[in-house]
Amino acid sequence: MPLRTRRRPPPGPTTGTDALTLESVTRRYRRGGRDFHALENVSMTVPPGRFLAVMGRSGSGKTTFLQCAAGLDRPTSGTVRIGGTDLSRLSEPALTRLRRDRIGFVFQSLNLVPSLTAGENTALPLLLRGMNPHDPAVRERALRTLAAVGLRDRADDSPLRLSGGQQQRVAIARALVTDPAVIFADEPTGALDPVTAHEVLRLLREAVDASGHTVVMVTHDPQAAAWTDEAIFIESGRIVAHENHPTPQTVTRRLAGPGER
Ligand code: ADP
Ligand code: MG
Repeated sequence: MPLRTRRRPPPGPTTGTDALTLESVTRRYRRGGRDFHALENVSMTVPPGRFLAVMGRSGSGKTTFLQCAAGLDRPTSGTVRIGGTDLSRLSEPALTRLRRDRIGFVFQSLNLVPSLTAGENTALPLLLRGMNPHDPAVRERALRTLAAVGLRDRADDSPLRLSGGQQQRVAIARALVTDPAVIFADEPTGALDPVTAHEVLRLLREAVDASGHTVVMVTHDPQAAAWTDEAIFIESGRIVAHENHPTPQTVTRRLAGPGER
């Protein structure tokens, strides 16, 4: 378990500029009268401009990891930092602001609003930031982001008129539109055919290579992991392995390795 560390963070507000840091993060649930560790003592760091895969079997703790890392859930203990900011020190409103301003999400259930157009869905995070919906810059930015995912010409369509892969691309545009420091994606290709999945992974890769975004992607798909710079493997809430430049073959081998405890 090479990533586990008991090192204490240095005191003070400036603790480096890593995009994401977890230190000894534990998330416990009370289940059937007993404590259950969905995440246990997880420590890791993601530098800016990196594409990371979080891998593991179903129930291993991937979504719990993502939700703690993205400030959607609070760990039972341990520290999460986004761009050096310790999330545990933030009030709920401050945490909401940080999520709004510095994080993009691509959920597995896409959460697109069917009564809005693709363009309006893409623009939503800008409005949440307080931009005026009638400000031409809002539409201009939404269109530019939709163009980046190849959907400029579908801006005025409802998501209901788009294919699954196109909807996934709108969800990515919505995550990109605010130019966030970190983009979190939970199984973004889980429901897609291989060709469309390829397209979505190419977009995430491009967000890293062309725009310097940091992407943290939960997946159990070895093909998807091969698009990333590094992969961590979670088993029973612990990081059990770490791999640079993962390939479908190496990832498949690891996932087929010794089972859960
Ligand atoms: P994965 O995304 O890898 O499939 P999860 O992070 O969703 O795994 O879940 C990890 C473990 O934590 C599972 O055993 C799950 O049942 C448990 N778990 C997740 N959320 C809760 C919760 N709110 N209450 C109790 N147990 C939970
Ligand atoms: Mg999950």
